[in-house]
Amino acid sequence: SFSFQAKMSRPVQAQRLEGLDKNIWVEFVKLAATYSKVNLGQGFPDFPAPEFLTEAFVGALSGKNHMLHQYTRAFGHPPLVKVLAQFFGKLLGRDLDPMTNVMVTVGAYQALFCCFQAFVDEGDEVIIIEPFFDCYEPMVKMAGGTPVFVSLRPKAPKDGKLMSSADWQLDPAELASKFSERTKAIVLNSPNNPLGKVFSRGELELIAELCVKHDVLCFSDEVYEWLVYDGKEHIRIASLQGMWDRTVMIGSAGKTFSATGWKVGWTVGPDRLMQHVRTVHQNSVYHCATVAQEAVSQGFQRELSLFGKPDSYFVQLPKMLQQKRDQLVQSLDAVGMKPIIPEGTYFLVADISKFKSDVPDDPKSDEPYDYRFAKWMVKNKGLAAIPLSAFYSEAHKNNYNNYLRFCFAKEDATLKAASDILQKWKQEK
Ligand code: PMP
Repeated sequence: SFSFQAKMSRPVQAQRLEGLDKNIWVEFVKLAATYSKVNLGQGFPDFPAPEFLTEAFVGALSGKNHMLHQYTRAFGHPPLVKVLAQFFGKLLGRDLDPMTNVMVTVGAYQALFCCFQAFVDEGDEVIIIEPFFDCYEPMVKMAGGTPVFVSLRPKAPKDGKLMSSADWQLDPAELASKFSERTKAIVLNSPNNPLGKVFSRGELELIAELCVKHDVLCFSDEVYEWLVYDGKEHIRIASLQGMWDRTVMIGSAGKTFSATGWKVGWTVGPDRLMQHVRTVHQNSVYHCATVAQEAVSQGFQRELSLFGKPDSYFVQLPKMLQQKRDQLVQSLDAVGMKPIIPEGTYFLVADISKFKSDVPDDPKSDEPYDYRFAKWMVKNKGLAAIPLSAFYSEAHKNNYNNYLRFCFAKEDATLKAASDILQKWKQEK
């Protein structure tokens, strides 16, 4: 009978989703919502986005131009792609065509997704530098590709100083050994989430040389491009010799303007590559909210006119965040949870070794130690952070399970509350 047959019995899951169902954010966002008093886990600011940006959004929403409530151009609202072309053209020292060299996406997340779908075929290899923003791996796999991992190796500083993210480096020979005729692309994330490493010119030149030698693409995730500290310079790999032609640059208004919920991102690259990125975007998402794009375009207009000046948000934001970084570094160092000082981003990684006695190891568990530590910490101390091993491939997780990632894009009061928790914990020990 019909009712007998109505219940499905065939397997429904597409094979490409095999093993990709577990996700750190689903688990830890829920834990933080349930238990945390202070949430330094997921990467978003708890301070307001700048007024000029929120005012632009309100203006776009309630202003005279009712067409801002309708569809806009699929590949990016014209005022936004125009200003992005001007802005990044200036940074790269090349003329960019807003219609062919820039495309707006639903956050940097969708920009990444478009890249993997557009360029990675079954059997292609994609090099990912560990630790890495966790979605790269499932995105490569969903496109049918094979991720190939290469780790940044920590070198302890000699004189007992705190480690810096600059002490985590690639071994040039190891990196070179990962390139083969199957390599289609490398994902570069500088400044890097979770370490906060800002790749030096020398490191970028090494990657660029290998990309050129092996004719490989580079997906350059630069969402933290403005968040660099101590006078460090963010170098765009697309500006290095031979790289423009093979690089897709990825950015995010969420990180740039402290408005992660708006989900406006972009890609910049040569038309030869962008045409395929557009094909994926056109046939999946189409575009993101027109009013948000309009507001971000006004934000960029402002930043273009104030470029490099003290009033520029892109100048002020890193100054503010550097102080917050130093505040959290001090709080962690004071209790012996040794921080690795980040050169960029709004994250820092800290060594939990001295606190391990509070959370006994469980040899029977197949969960990495830092996962269990982070869960214990949020449940028992009310402090949420993310285990570093979440940013490693399965094979390497257990080599890096002594660290947590903290987000310091938080109000000073939030950081003070975190410090109080840590102090109390240390005293109870
Ligand atoms: N890349 C990196 C390295 C990130 O850290 C994030 C956000 N955590 C993204 C991309 C995604 O950015 P968006 O919110 O704009 O999608």
